[in-house]
Amino acid sequence: MKIADMIVTPVAIADAPLRNAPGIHEPYVNRLIVELVGEDGESGFGEAAYSTQMHEDLQRLRPEIIACDAATQQRLYEIVATHLDADPENRPDPVLKNFDLSPAKVKTALPRTFSPIEVAALDLTGRSLGLPVAELLGGRVRDTVPFSAYLFYKHAGGGGEGVDEREDVYGEAMTPEGVVAQAQQMIDRYGFKSIKLKAGVFPPDDEIAAIRALRVAFGPGVPLRIDPNTAWTVETSIRVGKELADDLEYFEDPTFGIGGMAAVRHGLLAEGVDIPNATNMCVTAFSHIPESVREDAVQVILGDHHYWGGLRATVELGRICSTFGIGMSMHSNSHLGVSLMAMTHLAAAIPNLTYDADTHYPWLDEGDEIIVGGKVAFHDGCVTVPTIPGLGFEIDRDALARGHERFQRIPYRDRDDAGHMRRTVDPAWERKLPRW
Ligand SMILES: [Mg+2]
Repeated sequence: MKIADMIVTPVAIADAPLRNAPGIHEPYVNRLIVELVGEDGESGFGEAAYSTQMHEDLQRLRPEIIACDAATQQRLYEIVATHLDADPENRPDPVLKNFDLSPAKVKTALPRTFSPIEVAALDLTGRSLGLPVAELLGGRVRDTVPFSAYLFYKHAGGGGEGVDEREDVYGEAMTPEGVVAQAQQMIDRYGFKSIKLKAGVFPPDDEIAAIRALRVAFGPGVPLRIDPNTAWTVETSIRVGKELADDLEYFEDPTFGIGGMAAVRHGLLAEGVDIPNATNMCVTAFSHIPESVREDAVQVILGDHHYWGGLRATVELGRICSTFGIGMSMHSNSHLGVSLMAMTHLAAAIPNLTYDADTHYPWLDEGDEIIVGGKVAFHDGCVTVPTIPGLGFEIDRDALARGHERFQRIPYRDRDDAGHMRRTVDPAWERKLPRW
């Protein structure tokens, strides 16, 4: 299907005051919606994390994307690569600055910028061929995709500001009891069968207590994960790993870098503790895999089509993980239904994606969804893989317009969790990783 137009629409969605190692979520998070309009008038959609740089890059790419065929994925990739720079290594990732610490580990903008174009092109191609995207990716190996409950330490508040302030559905959660209550509420609503706690917020012993409280509350049949986003030193990570040896399904980014993760892995093995290390921070590109394999740093990679370079690249990542005996899970950021459905088709097409995928979707306020019918339904923690063409939804044009108006109204642009922490919680706050 020939592409007749590319429309890039930034939208803002309300975000609750969720804590993490760098700081706290701002009242809104911005997303970019990429629409490729086919010459028959049908449209395909992709979604990405917002950054001013990527917004500008995508708008500049429009004239070159137009008139390409949506099915020519490699051609589209080359256009983005050529546009972004002769040497993409010199162009930093526009979004991950919020978490990135080491100038030596600069990520490139190319896979992240290509991703929403590729997803929209696959959606459009699927619609024109009458095929769901999972089938374009090689075919589904599962009909439902299981997701995990994604818990956060959280201040009171539901996100949004002023007259747009949202209901605080989950309430405050700053203690083990609060975390357990949040988990119970999320599981009651969505049916999740596994739990992840975003950590790195309180001293490690407090977070160990929260995991133990979850274990007591939900029993041994519910896998638990902890993700402090590299807030811990190698020594602290090993201590926490030993303490939680019997409680963790995997140990997500306890410390910084491939070398640090390898030291944690070998330190724990020396103590007889064999919890897989998982990451979405130190192995985030194909070029990171060789060193990680050599060092046995990471046993589970959390794939994310938003920064691995799209859906096809992430299917390829699955094959590489399988080759090296690395497990595969899925990373998430705050997102809308467009990304959720892309993640669902992707997970359906990766045979070895055997861990429940992460999703921030429970944190999305119903009023912000931009697909027809409102928020996607979960059954027993799973999303059903659509069997209709493309990604399997229609865009609610009015809701998309409202999201864009919201974006125009708010002062927030590139995400700044540390700055918002200083403004709202602790004026002396500094992003410090590792902190413990
Ligand atoms: Mg993570």
